[in-house]
Amino acid sequence: MSARGREVLERIRGGETLIFDGGYGTMLFAAGLLNGACPELWNDTHADVVRSIHKGYFDAGSQIVETNTFGGTRLKLVEYRLGERTRDLNERGARLARAAAPPAGYIAGSIGPTSRLPQDYALDAGVTDEEYEATFLEQAEALAEGGVDLFAVETMMFPQEATAAIRACKKATDLPVMATMFFQFEELHDRDRTMWGESPADAARSLLAAGADVVGMNCGRGPDRAIVIIREMRKVTDAPLIAYPNAGLPVTKGDTVTYELGPEEMAREYPALLDAGCNIVGACCGSNPEHIERIAAVVRAAGRRGA
Ligand SMILES: [Zn+2]
Repeated sequence: MSARGREVLERIRGGETLIFDGGYGTMLFAAGLLNGACPELWNDTHADVVRSIHKGYFDAGSQIVETNTFGGTRLKLVEYRLGERTRDLNERGARLARAAAPPAGYIAGSIGPTSRLPQDYALDAGVTDEEYEATFLEQAEALAEGGVDLFAVETMMFPQEATAAIRACKKATDLPVMATMFFQFEELHDRDRTMWGESPADAARSLLAAGADVVGMNCGRGPDRAIVIIREMRKVTDAPLIAYPNAGLPVTKGDTVTYELGPEEMAREYPALLDAGCNIVGACCGSNPEHIERIAAVVRAAGRRGA
C-alpha cells in the first residue's frame, strides 16, 4: 500500500524536484460553492466539478494532487452538521482524486486545521492533544481507505495540532506524511513566524520529531517569503522540503477577491525557491492550473524534473 508514497521520497533522494498542485477554494467558489457552504460535501454533490479540478492540475503538470478534504475532520464537519459523514466524505474525496489521476500521478490526502483552539490557548475548554489525535486518526483512516498515497497535513497554525495530526497519520498507516505550517511575515522584525511564534527552523524540527517525512510551508504571504523560510529550514535539516505559497496577498475589490501574482510573476520566484533547497513545489490560495503550468516549466528548465 505504501509503495507508491515511498516512491515520492525515493525520487526526491534521487535528485528530482516534484510538482504539487495549486489552490482549490477559488476554483470551487468560481464553480458556484457558496460562502459558508461545506467544500467537502461537494465530493458527493458535485463530484464532477471536484474531479475536473483535480484533472486540470494533473494536465497542467502536477505530479502530486491533493484531495478536497482540507476541512474533513469530524471536529470541523460538525460545524455544518455533517459530522456523521466524516468517513464517507473523506473516502469519496480520495476516490475522486484517484479517478482523475494518470497512472503515474500521486494522491495526497489533505488534512487541514480543525479551527478549534488547543487547550492552552482557548477561552473555552479547548481541544486536548488526545481529541486532536482522535479526530485526525478518523480522517487519516478514511483517506487511506479511499486510496491516497501519502498525506498532506497543511496550513497548520498551532504546533500541538500539527504534531497531533502527524502522529495520527502514522498511527493510521505507514504512508509518508508531508507537514506544512502557515507562517506570517512580521514586517517589523523582518522575519517569518507561525501564529505561535515558532521560527521556520523550530517548526521544521518539531514536525520532523513528530514523524513527518517531508516538512515545509504553505499558504502565507507568497513565494518571496517561501524562499526565505525554505532556506532557514534547509540550514537545520537534510529532510525533503516542500513549499506551496499563496499567489501573493489577496486584494479585495467590492465583492471580488483576486491575488497579487499572476502565473508568470509567481513562477519568476521559483528558480530561487529551487536553489533554496526545495524538493516539492506547488502553490496555494489564488493560484490555478496556469500557475502550475508556469511553475512546472521552471522545474523542467532547471533540469530537475524526471520522467
Ligand atoms: Zn492558501
